[in-house]
Amino acid sequence: MIQDQKVQLQFAEHAGRLNDGLPGSHAGESLNLLAQAGWLGLGVPESLGGGGGRLLDVVEAIAAVSEQCLTSGFVFWCQRAFIEYLAASDNRWLQAEILPQALKAELSGATGLSNAMKHLAGIEQLRLEARLDAETVTLNGFLPWASNLRPKQFAVAIAAQTSSGRSLVVAVPASAQGLKRGEDLQLLGLQASWTSTLSLEQVKLSHTWIISDAAQTFLAKIRPAFVLMQCGLALGIARRSLNETLQSINGGNEQALINHLRHNTVTLAQLEAQVWQLGIVSTFTLAQVRQLFELRIALTRLALDTVWLELEAKGGSAYFKPSGTARRLREVAFLPVLTPSLVQLETELQRHRAMEQVA
Ligand SMILES: Cc1cc2nc3c(=O)[nH]c(=O)nc-3n(C[C@H](O)[C@H](O)[C@H](O)COP(=O)(O)OP(=O)(O)OC[C@H]3O[C@@H](n4cnc5c(N)ncnc54)[C@H](O)[C@@H]3O)c2cc1C
Repeated sequence: MIQDQKVQLQFAEHAGRLNDGLPGSHAGESLNLLAQAGWLGLGVPESLGGGGGRLLDVVEAIAAVSEQCLTSGFVFWCQRAFIEYLAASDNRWLQAEILPQALKAELSGATGLSNAMKHLAGIEQLRLEARLDAETVTLNGFLPWASNLRPKQFAVAIAAQTSSGRSLVVAVPASAQGLKRGEDLQLLGLQASWTSTLSLEQVKLSHTWIISDAAQTFLAKIRPAFVLMQCGLALGIARRSLNETLQSINGGNEQALINHLRHNTVTLAQLEAQVWQLGIVSTFTLAQVRQLFELRIALTRLALDTVWLELEAKGGSAYFKPSGTARRLREVAFLPVLTPSLVQLETELQRHRAMEQVA
């Protein structure tokens, strides 16, 4: 299914327009394609309306899309991460009413959880406040980033804290009174990814929108899937870029580039083996979480390095704005800052090591 050439071609056709955000281009084209191909339901239990399968299938699907277009790969990740939250929730109403809409891409699923993931890692306070009453939850605060916010037709997962210190994960529909989506942010790439800000002012929702009333535990539970699926983004770029470099090797540049190319090819094979190993784990141990963080770092660094090598191999033609290499250079620059950013992952790993030394 992932090898479906026709679908791949459609993602490739739109890649430049989506990265540049040309008028009329938006992430909805990609989401519709993904829904039609049945890829949004990969790894989601059949009992919840998904197609079954493992997380590895999702990672490979995200990689296959990212090989052609990182904007599409990224909105795929956003939508699929949102679907993961609903699938992992105990909330049957969200699973019956909202999940089917997300699987069909009738609404776009956004994940405003960078702040919550940083909070989980002890880096930031939660930016959003929640007040719980008998039947409603009221939300206030500002999120500086969220993607896949289809105008008027999205739901965003956020985390918020009550004054008593309890934290919740809530799905907030675009139609909620008091929720304001900003204009699309002007970005280096991925311009058509519907990325903007969200402000919440006295947003009052019924309890049916609560994904989890124990955010800390819930976020720790979904974090391995969150990070593993992100690996597909870097994997796709690295595979494509290595292939492009290989095709550009000729008598003139071979001697200068071959060792670097060989090294990157071997590294990719080693990292792929780790993806395939971790992609079938159902419950992650602490050691496996650590391995996953290291894998995300290594794949991101490989993707960055590979695109620079592609530039060297292709020469000046790669510097023309419409070239695939030029697009990939702008696409790949997103991966180190995607939460958890490389800085954050490195910091967490250092903290783990320090704790081990004390123990
Ligand atoms: C195109 C795009 C789309 C995005 N989409 C979303 C989205 O859909 N949802 C969402 O929630 N967010 C989204 N973000 C936000 C993004 O994932 C990161 O949160 C953000 O880019 C991280 O940088 P920052 O602005 O917090 O960096 P800064 O706070 O300036 O920090 C700089 C760097 O240091 C790290 N850092 C800061 N403090 C610490 C610390 N104490 N310990 C360790 N590391 C630290 C940061 O992670 C970052 O790498 C998006 C960003 C971009 C560029």
